[in-house]
Amino acid sequence: MRLSQLFTKTSKTVPADETARNAQLLIRAGYVYKVMAGVYAYTPLGLRVLENIKRIVREEMNAVDGQEIVMSSLQRKETWENTGRWDDEVVDVWFKSKLKDETEVGFGWSHEEAILEMMQQFIKSYKDLPTSVYQFQAKLRNELRAKSGIMRGREFVMKDMYSLHATEEDMDQYYETVIEAYKRCYERFGLGDSTFVTFASGGAFTKFSHEFQTICDAGEDVLYVNDDQTIAVNEEVLDDAARELGIDKADLKPVKSAEVGNIFKFGTDKAEQMGVSFTDSDGQQKPIYLASYGIGITRVMGVIVEKFADDKGIVWPEAVAPYRVYLVRIGGDEAVKHADKLYKELTSKGIEVLYDDRDERPGAKFADSELLGIPQRVTVSDRLIETEKYEYTSRKTGQTSELTRSELFATLNKSS
Ligand code: ATP
Ligand code: MG
Repeated sequence: MRLSQLFTKTSKTVPADETARNAQLLIRAGYVYKVMAGVYAYTPLGLRVLENIKRIVREEMNAVDGQEIVMSSLQRKETWENTGRWDDEVVDVWFKSKLKDETEVGFGWSHEEAILEMMQQFIKSYKDLPTSVYQFQAKLRNELRAKSGIMRGREFVMKDMYSLHATEEDMDQYYETVIEAYKRCYERFGLGDSTFVTFASGGAFTKFSHEFQTICDAGEDVLYVNDDQTIAVNEEVLDDAARELGIDKADLKPVKSAEVGNIFKFGTDKAEQMGVSFTDSDGQQKPIYLASYGIGITRVMGVIVEKFADDKGIVWPEAVAPYRVYLVRIGGDEAVKHADKLYKELTSKGIEVLYDDRDERPGAKFADSELLGIPQRVTVSDRLIETEKYEYTSRKTGQTSELTRSELFATLNKSS
């Protein structure tokens, strides 16, 4: 992509009410546009990052036989009545509206009930089980506070998966498989070292629900971790968990964290409430076992920005970066010719390049490349052309070196 053609521009200012660092950087760099508190639009650059995160999750969910679907945002009141969750006293984040004929409808803040209702149409017998479906959906939640930028949206993208089973053993087994798939996702986002599977609730409940928490100063949760960071426990269950694990709670130190994923086993509870059953091999009608698995896609993007950004701007890990290379062109006709050629060559090799072909000062181009956080920068200039070299800079380490053409290609290939 030629930067001269990209409609977004970097900027030095952010909306006055934007206090979250992730959103400030993303707005300044032109990845997101703030519509209102907790509501953001994604520009071409922002969308590329989101799609990279989604691609990783999609690959991992497909690998555990998840089947991708998309549910609707508009939902029926009746869908939620059987479980009592239409009630605003029970669910306090509903956005609701009415059709022209006064029929009440809700905007999907979750799809647990909606998916089970749909699956009921298709699951008749034990032969139809197990099955697992997932989607990437914009969830709408009337959150009281939305001060964490894209980490807490009133409209945000979630990946939610639901698995349906005939037996508890089958559900338990699959649940463990998904935990491993989730770990691979966070690993691939570049968050592997700082993300923990924690017990979300105490005592006997621990085996039914787990949170994935990433250590992050901008997070809204608190995690208690031991020195070598092998144990992480949620604040609410500290006492219970310490007892269960047989450790002294004084050995666990608090750190801020962000909930980047949450998984539950509903067992047969939801199916019983909603009257969703299947015919088992013995001819009996039985309720379906259900488990649900969420990842906050846009929250993950915000966490990545918060964790890796430095005083110059965003630092994307390779796997989610919108482009791998930021190509800077400095100089006259000769530089244009060389840079254009390199741009075409890299692009034809499948290396995604953001080409700064603007007539800007070199300093402005370098500053933009740093703000945007593209992992590798390659500079072509009149001076470098004379020595037949390219300047190569790693965004993460800031290290710069002058490389010959073959060294440059070797370096770019290595990091793919
Ligand atoms: P939280 O405790 O942060 O409000 P939650 O427990 O209500 O989240 P879930 O319903 O478990 O959230 O949603 C699954 C995942 O979606 C969460 O683990 C989180 O990563 C993400 N998520 C939840 N709410 C938001 C939000 N308002 N903005 C962005 N991501 C969110
Ligand atoms: Mg949760």
